[in-house]
Amino acid sequence: MDCAVTRPAADAPVAARSDVVVVGGGPAGLAAAVSAARGGASVTLLERYAHLGGLAAGGMVLVLDDFADGPDEITVRGLAQEMVDRLHVLGLAVYPPPGDRLLSSEMWQRWSRWGLFDLYAKGPEKSIVYAVAFDPDGWKRVSNDLVEEAGVDVRLHSWYSAPIMFGDTIGGVICETKTGPQAVLGDVVIDASGDADVAAGAGAPHVEGSYMVTTVFRLGNVDTDTAERFEHSQPAECHAVNRMARRILGGSWAMWWLRTPLRGVVWCNCPHMNGYDGLSVEDLTAADREGRKRIADLVEYVREHYPGFENAVVIDVAPQIGVRQSRLIEGEYVVTKDDVVNRIHFADSVARGRGYYTPYRAMLPQRVEQLLVAGRHYSVTPEAQKLSREIPPCMSMGEAAGTAAVAALNCGVTVRKVDVAAVQRRLRRQGADPGDIPSPRARRARSTREANS
Ligand SMILES: Cc1cc2nc3c(=O)[nH]c(=O)nc-3n(C[C@H](O)[C@H](O)[C@H](O)COP(=O)(O)OP(=O)(O)OC[C@H]3O[C@@H](n4cnc5c(N)ncnc54)[C@H](O)[C@@H]3O)c2cc1C
Repeated sequence: MDCAVTRPAADAPVAARSDVVVVGGGPAGLAAAVSAARGGASVTLLERYAHLGGLAAGGMVLVLDDFADGPDEITVRGLAQEMVDRLHVLGLAVYPPPGDRLLSSEMWQRWSRWGLFDLYAKGPEKSIVYAVAFDPDGWKRVSNDLVEEAGVDVRLHSWYSAPIMFGDTIGGVICETKTGPQAVLGDVVIDASGDADVAAGAGAPHVEGSYMVTTVFRLGNVDTDTAERFEHSQPAECHAVNRMARRILGGSWAMWWLRTPLRGVVWCNCPHMNGYDGLSVEDLTAADREGRKRIADLVEYVREHYPGFENAVVIDVAPQIGVRQSRLIEGEYVVTKDDVVNRIHFADSVARGRGYYTPYRAMLPQRVEQLLVAGRHYSVTPEAQKLSREIPPCMSMGEAAGTAAVAALNCGVTVRKVDVAAVQRRLRRQGADPGDIPSPRARRARSTREANS
């Protein structure tokens, strides 16, 4: 349809006003809001859904990857680690102890069905690393605790729809709500929507990347011990069953099911589907339908053929469809695949992932003042984003964005002019690793890159 109607103008009452407004309550937005509030700013956190968590909760992405560079070096700390510690206390996070983080058949058998291995290693058995399997409802619960303790004003059921601009400067956002549009004003806005909704709406340059989408789901009533015994005692038979299961799914990682902290409940990070646009209503509707059909077919098959899955039932299909990549901003610096793969270190690094570093410039959109972005839509090429979008680094970026917003407000400068060294020091004091100190394995950015290409 190529026709359009003009919307009638409607007043948007000011529902909230704060120093920092964060749009999106996923991993990046949560960390941004909590770090800004702990730094002393008043913070409003806006989320379209009925809970916090983003892909980590409503998207049911249930393993925290990219916490470490190989078995030895932990690269993400701060709020991401605090989340794990709190989940662990509740019995809702599982990770291998340091002594188990190595490459051995014994450890592979113990931990591989938890998904806690080096995703980028080659070979049939991979090194066990620090990664964390967790429960999505636990994530929501801990998120609530964190924002409540920090004094963040959380507004759920608030769908960002437009920026409030004063020339080139953003001064807040409009949200659609059940009672009509509402204005939320702020001196700094952090876009943590995952799809760069705010940055794009405000006119910041961006590209539209794409990657497979996934209707993640969980199965219950699974006898995981029997399933694992089958895998280890009859590898050829199990391989054949898994091959057929993956064929039915039509797209999946090698391990289509993984254990979770809940007994008898497995996480299925599949089916993967290509060719769907993560911003298109029509595509997302079609992908949801297609995914559910494939899931139903899979369950029918495994109930009959996979020991341990005889009584399996679908507990839930993630309410937030699994979009890995859509818009990516073209900020002051665009991170490349070479930067990610070769551990290129930047003097203005404020966040880390597996081995890679995120410069502050990659969270600064061009052309729009007082806007920061944090999360999977940061300034990165589509190829590099596929390798640098996991939950812990997104939290690391969020923590840096919230900290930078406070530093700018305290010094009376714009976020573009903030003293990055002061932000790095502050992040270290908070227990985060901003990547200011390069690992021995890092390589320095060439000065032309530093100056920005
Ligand atoms: C299927 C799948 C599997 C993955 N597997 C892994 C894995 O195993 N391990 C791992 O670490 N990472 C994995 N990832 C990547 C990881 O989940 C994401 O990159 C990460 O969650 C991004 O965090 P974010 O906060 O940037 O975005 P999101 O998690 O997408 O959060 C964005 C938040 O903003 C809200 N929002 C969006 N638009 C608006 C709006 N207009 N108004 C108000 N609120 C809005 C959303 O509801 C959401 O809460 C996977 C991703 C997918 C999709």
